[in-house]
Amino acid sequence: MRVFNFSAGPAVLPEAVLQRAAEEMLDWRGSGMSVMEMSHRGKEFMSIAHSAEANFRQLLSIPSHYKVLFLQGGAMAMNALIPMNLLGRHRSADYVNTGIWSSKSISEAKKYCQVNVAASSEDKDFTYVPAQSTWKLDPQAAYLHICSNETIGGVEYHWLPDAGNVPLVADMSSNILSTVINVSDYAVIYGGAQKNIGPAGLTFVIVRDDLLERALDITPTVFHWKEQAEHESMVNTPPTYGIYMAGLVFEWLQQQGGLAAIEKMNAEKASRLYNYLDSTDFYSSPVSINDRSRMNIPFHLHDTRLNDSFLDGAQERGLLQLKGHRSVGGMRASLYNAMPIDGVIALVNYLRDFEKHHA
Ligand SMILES: *Cc1c(COP(=O)(O)O)cnc(C)c1O
Repeated sequence: MRVFNFSAGPAVLPEAVLQRAAEEMLDWRGSGMSVMEMSHRGKEFMSIAHSAEANFRQLLSIPSHYKVLFLQGGAMAMNALIPMNLLGRHRSADYVNTGIWSSKSISEAKKYCQVNVAASSEDKDFTYVPAQSTWKLDPQAAYLHICSNETIGGVEYHWLPDAGNVPLVADMSSNILSTVINVSDYAVIYGGAQKNIGPAGLTFVIVRDDLLERALDITPTVFHWKEQAEHESMVNTPPTYGIYMAGLVFEWLQQQGGLAAIEKMNAEKASRLYNYLDSTDFYSSPVSINDRSRMNIPFHLHDTRLNDSFLDGAQERGLLQLKGHRSVGGMRASLYNAMPIDGVIALVNYLRDFEKHHA
């Protein structure tokens, strides 16, 4: 029996995608092979990779002067690879610190360049996005880095920062493809796939062409964006099965009506949960209302002694992985694209019943 899986990542995948992968597991479309057994340079896998990229581009309307790379290493590897690939002749970069993932990006970048923390919400335990008017940006910075959705803190940008002429770089690991965006507002968009795209092991990078000239000489070849762009992400063996699964998820998203339709569903799912949390003192949401994430929703029980019985009762109803990150405690429900609305309804019903039983 399938459960409702609220994990922050690796996370729920669309059931239809898993079913199709299962059907194609032993024999991908008459090839007599599993995708995992194919040469990455063979014509079968090349067609899988090409259509995955084409569908990713179609979903996000990625302009032709942007390259799409499918790499390994995860978003955390990118924390080092972004300065390596983007510093060029610059010495420093700007970062906005909105939580644990931005903080990790900052401490890694410090190994490679001078980091200017342009703004931070640490004063209030990372429960909001600092207003742009408070940011201290450096016009000479190599780039400005933000994390568009803090997966742990549940804080999301619902507005576009103005980086001036400085390239804007966004870690979109946990909200990529959740909403319509304008790719050309960004210089680089990157993230790990295991939140909203597919299995762990695949990292995507969307990078504007003109930025490919900036890599430092020390950049490892397999992480050198220009090298990878020139070789269609095949300087080394790419994460082939992850690319295949991502491709199936992209097709599924197209069948759902694309990002405009998904955005509507995500808004509906998140507001059902927030509305309930806001309607009672039994639960609370720590995040500033305007900056609440639609993907990752942390919440607390007023009486924390009930945490364990809350989680046990949820498990009995097939509502899994609701425990909050150890650094914030409490609970967290991740409502990625693949979480059906029925999962959110079941969760809200459970919140109500649990409260009735314990109030
Ligand atoms: C999960 C996550 C990461 C880390 O991803 P890895 O693939 O584990 O390196 C970085 N940033 C954000 C916003 C994340 O959600």
